[in-house]
Amino acid sequence: MAQALFVHGSRDLRVEPCEISPPSIGEVQVSLRRGGICGSDLHYFNHGGFGSVRLREPMILGHEVAGEVIALGPNVAGLAVGDLVAISPSRPCFSCAQCSHGLPNHCLNMRFYGSAMPFPHVQGAFRDVITARAEHCVKAVGLNAAQAAMAEPLAVALHAMRRAGNIVGQRVLVTGCGPIGVLVIMAARRAGAGEIIATDVGDMMLGFAENAGADICLNMANQPDALGPFGKGKGSVDVAFECSGSQAALTAA
Ligand SMILES: [Zn+2]
Ligand SMILES: [Zn+2]
Repeated sequence: MAQALFVHGSRDLRVEPCEISPPSIGEVQVSLRRGGICGSDLHYFNHGGFGSVRLREPMILGHEVAGEVIALGPNVAGLAVGDLVAISPSRPCFSCAQCSHGLPNHCLNMRFYGSAMPFPHVQGAFRDVITARAEHCVKAVGLNAAQAAMAEPLAVALHAMRRAGNIVGQRVLVTGCGPIGVLVIMAARRAGAGEIIATDVGDMMLGFAENAGADICLNMANQPDALGPFGKGKGSVDVAFECSGSQAALTAA
């Protein structure tokens, strides 16, 4: 038996035993080292779900995780006991319409760690030990476990950069400076953005944005019209990344 962090409902977290399955063909067993707490984990904890997605049974939280390989099942190549790995939390079906159009990220039957969308819920990764497919584990060479656990949210930011195309020298707006916004700022800086404008409604988050490489940090709670000068004429922002989920930010972008 391992221990896992279950959410039973709003504000009801419990550390309880969970089954450990031995690694079968193509699987590895990973001892978890670090996990990031996502906005979705917080929604389950604070409100028992979000929108129409509600907890209907106890569920293990967590999907941004990294750990150390402690056992290999048969037919596993490329991983060894002792490797630090980041684990991908998504399990597309590879057979639905979206998957067959080459968009497994939009899979209609997606099984995602710590998700109450399907029932029974998909159990998450905040546990001592997890068994995972070897191809979902990526070796985190040169990183520590906390950095490796950021692989999943960083992938969101890198996907956004790819969608934006070439942003070299461009003026970029990032609305919302939570973890995703900050990772987007870092990714945009690295992708060669000319000027990065960051907005949020909290000075603490804007401090993180500045550290991450934002050139102009605007607190929209104090200065609601701060983006005005950039909207003159046809607007002078080349690319906008909306990372807040707030209607006001989307309208401004
Ligand atoms: Zn997440
Ligand atoms: Zn699918």
